[in-house]
Parts: sequence; structure tokens; C-alpha cells
Amino acid sequence: PLDKEQANFVREVRDACFSRVLPAPVKNPRVIAYSPEALALLDLPESECRRGDFAKYFSGSAVLPGAEPAAHCYCGFQFGYFSGQLGDGAAMYLGEVINQAGERCELQLKGAGKTPFSRTADGRKVLRSSVREFLCSEAMFNLGIPTTRSGSCVTSDSYVTRDIFYTGNNIQERCTVISRIAPTFIRFGSFEIFKGIDNETGRRGPSFGRPDILKVLVDYTIKTFYPEIWEQFTDPEERALQFFREVVRRTALLVARWQCVGFCHGVLNTDNMSIVGVTLDYGPFGFMDRQPEICKWNCGKLAEALIPVLSLEKSTNALKEFDVEFEQEYSKLMHFKFGLHIVYPDDGKLFEDFLDTMYQTGADFTNSFRCLSRFQSEFDLDSVCDYLLEQCCSAREYKAAFRPQMDPSKLQMLLLLKQSNPDLLAMLGKEASAIDREIALAEKAGTLQGLTEEAKREKDRTLWRAWLTRYKDRLALECTTDGTVEEFQAARIAMMDNTNPRIVLRNFIAQNAIDYAEVGDFTEVQRVFRALRKPFDASVKYADLTGFDEAVEGGQANEP
Ligand code: AMP
Ligand code: MG
Ligand code: MG
Repeated sequence: PLDKEQANFVREVRDACFSRVLPAPVKNPRVIAYSPEALALLDLPESECRRGDFAKYFSGSAVLPGAEPAAHCYCGFQFGYFSGQLGDGAAMYLGEVINQAGERCELQLKGAGKTPFSRTADGRKVLRSSVREFLCSEAMFNLGIPTTRSGSCVTSDSYVTRDIFYTGNNIQERCTVISRIAPTFIRFGSFEIFKGIDNETGRRGPSFGRPDILKVLVDYTIKTFYPEIWEQFTDPEERALQFFREVVRRTALLVARWQCVGFCHGVLNTDNMSIVGVTLDYGPFGFMDRQPEICKWNCGKLAEALIPVLSLEKSTNALKEFDVEFEQEYSKLMHFKFGLHIVYPDDGKLFEDFLDTMYQTGADFTNSFRCLSRFQSEFDLDSVCDYLLEQCCSAREYKAAFRPQMDPSKLQMLLLLKQSNPDLLAMLGKEASAIDREIALAEKAGTLQGLTEEAKREKDRTLWRAWLTRYKDRLALECTTDGTVEEFQAARIAMMDNTNPRIVLRNFIAQNAIDYAEVGDFTEVQRVFRALRKPFDASVKYADLTGFDEAVEGGQANEP
């Protein structure tokens, strides 16, 4: 039923892959920013984005003519455990467009209100999470990484309550809706709604005992998103096997690419794993390792969900291809990042030790890679070393992350707070254990400070010198082809600078733009958006966004 009161109530949805819903309007919707390139996927010209009613439609305050809003039903293994029904609790499908290029694009709104899958939450998204997803989706696309796209970010004067630091200190935040575009938002978890009782949790999928619907979903997915496989194979199990293999392959390629720009998804659960291998659901992203293992584990869970159409024996065999695909792609991209054409058996160790040296010296992932293309000869060793220490170890984000903990007055304030009366603590919404944790952190920062700047620098310099010397020797093995040394260097620099971005969406960049947007100034979001469109381009100076001043090459700040 399309009566909102009836359609959107929270419930278990049995024997269905989606439910019809209606978006809930917001007060005074206003466009923070939009991505003309993403909206062009819908064949929407930029003139349409400037229309007065754009904000209304793209906030869900009015339903686009022809739209049939619906929310997907899906389950998920979250952090290792089966959660049962999850579903689109805050996202809504509006419909699909087959564009002039023949591409199928599903359009969704995220944050447009409650659905049957909202559980205890409100189906809304706030300004900070929406700006982060909008900027990062488009940033990832511009880095050449498969991802869902984001067409728009629209804020409003409707508010919801959020507890940002889990302190019990609730604040009012603006409802902010983004539009998302992808070939499909079907995910591994969409195939888990048919799961029978899970041994560990005792939970089951809402459509358990309906392998007939699973078959319809599998056929639809293969036919629509993997038409080559549908055409080439006729036996249902063979089709399912080839489909599974392709999902495993795409997932391995995707995570290899994440690793190479230091992107950490943060909520790698089966409900956030796209069935077409694109990055899906930008939440608490940042940097972390061990992602490949988790993605492979999630593919294993997809294999279990597919048992009615594909024997576990066959899928287990296919899953072994994950490691090969990942290793190949990762190695290929890392060779680009280090400017190496030839593959030597010891390269993996050299790359690993680079990451380790970054870790030991607290260097910045993005900036360290970007620095490397400057390194050319023995003469450069010291200057690149200095550069790494200056520009990387003291990168703005790194400093910012430590500044609050290094402030000795903070430690004193915390100690005072700890001694104060418990009622005061309660009033401030602080728990004693949280204060103890903060004190431990502040003390640790004090110890860090204890190591003199000079001693730390010397230690870091030794580590970088050792690694750069090995890199120099490795580079010497490359210079064997025809052409001059200058030509070789130019090709190497081009290759590196086209794989190692200057600009990624760092948390402090997003947060600064969000702080401005919160008070009604959207220009910083738009400026960051423009910078993220050309992440490899050195000609535009955004020193404040890179924490790394390429202007030493002689350029001046000249952003458009
Ligand atoms: P995530 O960890 O972001 O993948 O979300 C896990 C589940 O929580 C999914 O079913 C989401 O749809 C749901 N969810 C996340 N945020 C909200 C929200 N603000 N309101 C309702 N449901 C939500
Ligand atoms: Mg999700
Ligand atoms: Mg999410």
C-alpha cells in the first residue's frame, strides 16, 4: 500500500526482496552541492540541477514523476555475526534509468525517512554523514575506484537528535539527504534473507524456506548485471558458479585498489558488499589493514547464501581465486605507485618495508607516496629524506591528531574533573571510565613528548635513509631500456603521479567543510568537491588540503 502510515511502519518483511515506501518531506530543503558528472549518468543536464524545485525532489520532499519508491530487504553478517533482517533503513530506491549510453542506473535517496527496515532508528541522515558520503563517493570515482556515485547533497531545517561521542550528550542535527547512483544496490546481504537458523546466533533470514525466490533473485541479478554470463551458460549451477567467480574477482580487485590509496571502509559487513563490486556505504571510513581477508570472508558468506543454487564444493574452489586476483591487482598497482615497470620477486618486501617505515615514523600514506616521484639519484637522498620528514611526518592531519592530547593543560583539567564530585560528572554526561581512558591517552601523549623532537627526527631519518637506499638500488635495475635517463625519469614520474593522488578526503578536510556548512556556508564543501575532481593534478595548488606543499616546485597558490 502507498499510504505512508501503512507503508513505512517497521516490521519483519517476509517472502519479499523489497517493500514499497514513501519519502518523508523535510523543512526548507537547500542544495549544499551537486555533482554534475554523477547526475549526467541519469542524462540530467546541469540546467535541471539549478532549477528551484531540484532541492524538493532530491530531498524526498516531493516524489519525482514516474518514481516508484521502495526499500530493499537484506540481511547481513555484521562484524562476524549474523544479524538477521537489516534492509534499507535510511535509503530508498526511486527507480532506474537506462541512460543514452545504455547504462542502467539505480537512483536512491539516503536519509529520506523511515522504512520497514529502520528498526529503532529514524531513517534520517545528518549533515556531517551526508557531506562525507557525497564527497567521498565522488572522490573515489575520481581516483578510478569502482564506487556508488553521489549526485547531490541537500540539507534542511528539519532536525534529528544524535549522540555523536556516545556520551549521552545529545545534539540536534540537520536532516540532510544525498542521492546515490549505482547499476544496482543489491548486495551480498540481499541473498541472505533466505538463510535458515544460524547456529551461532539462533537468528534466521525473514524469507527462510523460500529457495524459489532466491532463484528468481539470482537469475535476475545474473541476467541484468552479468548478461555475458547469462548468454554464455545455460545450466543454472554453471551460471551461478561463473557469477560467483566474477563477484569474487571484482571484490578482490576492489579491495586491492582500496589498499593502494589507503582507503579503509570501516564497516565491511556482508550487507555493505556490492554484488557488482563497487564501494558501497561510506560510514566511518579512514585507514586500516586486514581488509582483503574480511572481503574474502564475506565472499565465503555469499557462497553459503547461494547453496540452493550452487554447491559449496564448487564455490569453495572458486573462492580460492580471490587471493590470486587480489595479489595480481595489488602488485600491479603497487608497481605503478613505486614507478616500477619490471616485476622482481623481492619487490613485495620492498613495498611492505615502505609501509612499515611509514608506520614507524608516523608518516602520511598519501603524501609519502606522492613524495617518492621526486627521488631520482644519490644526490636526492638527503633532500627526499628531509622532505619525507618535513612534509609527511608533520602532515597537518598527523599534527592535528596529536595536538589535543599533547596539551598539558588538558591532562590537568581531566585530573581535576576526575576528583570532582560525581554529580558534576553526571551533569556533564561524562562517565568516570571515559575520563580514565582520556587520562591514559593524555599521559601516553606526554611520553611521546618525552622523546625529544631531535632524537625522534634522527631515528626517523635513519629509517628513511635505509629504505631509500634500497629503493635507489631497485630503481637502478629499471633503467635498462632505450632512451635517455631524462626520458626514463619523465615516464616514471608521470606513471607515479597518475597513481599516487595528491588529494584524498581526509577527515579534517571533511570536518572543516562540514563545520562551515552547519552554519549555512556551503562554499567550502563546493571547493573541496572541485579539488577532489582532479586528485592527481599538480597544477592546481591546494596546499591547505594536501598538508603537503608542492608549491616548492615553483608554483603559486592558484586555485580556481
Ligand atoms: P550500516 O552499518 O551503515 O551498513 O547500517 C546497518 C543497518 O542500519 C542497515 O540496515 C541500515 O539501513 C540501518 N541504518 C543505518 N542508519 C540508519 C538510520 N539513520 N535510520 C534507520 N536505519 C539506519
Ligand atoms: Mg549499510
Ligand atoms: Mg551506513
